[in-house]
Amino acid sequence: MSSNTVATVAAKRPTPRSRLPQVGTTIFTVMSALAQSCKAINLGQGFPDFEPDPALLDAVGRALQGGHNQYPPMAGVAALREALADKIESLHARRYDPGEEITITAGATQALLTAILAVVHPGDEVIVLTPAYDSYLPAIELAGAVARCVPLNAEFGPDFDAIAAALGPRTRAMLVNSPHNPSGRVWSAADMRRLGELLAPTDVLLISDEVYEHMVFDANRHCSAAAEPLLAERSFVVSSFGKTYHATGWKVGMVAAPRELSAEFRKVHQFNVFTVNTPMQWALAEHLRTHPEAHLDLPAFYQAKRDRFRAGLRGTRLRLLPCEGTYFQCVDYSAVSDLPEPEFCTWLTREVGVAAIPVSAFEPSPPPARRVARFCFAKRDETLDAALQRLRAL
Ligand code: GLN
Repeated sequence: MSSNTVATVAAKRPTPRSRLPQVGTTIFTVMSALAQSCKAINLGQGFPDFEPDPALLDAVGRALQGGHNQYPPMAGVAALREALADKIESLHARRYDPGEEITITAGATQALLTAILAVVHPGDEVIVLTPAYDSYLPAIELAGAVARCVPLNAEFGPDFDAIAAALGPRTRAMLVNSPHNPSGRVWSAADMRRLGELLAPTDVLLISDEVYEHMVFDANRHCSAAAEPLLAERSFVVSSFGKTYHATGWKVGMVAAPRELSAEFRKVHQFNVFTVNTPMQWALAEHLRTHPEAHLDLPAFYQAKRDRFRAGLRGTRLRLLPCEGTYFQCVDYSAVSDLPEPEFCTWLTREVGVAAIPVSAFEPSPPPARRVARFCFAKRDETLDAALQRLRAL
């Protein structure tokens, strides 16, 4: 037999042992694909159907042409971290050191996963308030930890007695999200203070998902974990430029956390993505300096869309739930249909031509009798009006 001849062996085709055996494709991808195949108006997956500020796009062009195309520093472009430190200080009166306490990430999703992998150990418990954004539970599972799901109350607000009861010796971390996807509820300063008081005597770390920080309506304020002294020392504060600058596809986010937490975060980050794309960071840094008002204009911009959408739905049998923040409006559709949430959203997409997201997709054990769907109103007025015309037929 020549040395080139391969011996005949029984070849095995290895099948992977899944790290996420319960997980399928995310509901956002599923509903966007369905919306596209049915030519439905897509109010499902959360993304704007309009463009970022042309000034920001020009800044990207300048960065691309200006030689900003190689690896940035591992923690992110310094000018962007400095601009963020100034912005956070002006909003929340807490100064993060841009050198050591702010890290630029590949969107909030990577920030959340990296924070969890950095500080959560196999066998630890992580408290998650449900319904919760769909990346949280898989991230905890990938860390080998156990999610301790605590339902939000009937109005999707925090149930502090239930949170207190869930805290135990194995609790390593807790995830909170305000403004809240999917419900649109916003935590008050008193809520954040109460959480701070609950966690103060513990070693529990907080991962605060604040990606909708600049979408808070009716003259209310976003209350960041950075602004609550009892929380800031134990918190990873996560945000996303995708939401604030109408650029969800750029996948640039950030995490601010005290020095020791950021150091652990960066240990994982450097082997997770190492760095995040350079020209977008330069452009965002420039834009933060030259258009400091951009995020200040956002509440009024989205509040007008919320109000247009809510006014249009008032004549329907869909019952409007409160929307205090985010770009999501939830409705109770029980007067229209008794279908469970996933089936209703599929039916609505196929038969009515408007895609929505079932709130049940945000929790492992949704209440079986609830009938709530989520619409995204980050759309041009024409898109909202066209969807409303279809929804008025319900
Ligand atoms: N956060 C967006 C939403 O809730 C979607 C993000 C995604 O598609 N993964 O709709």
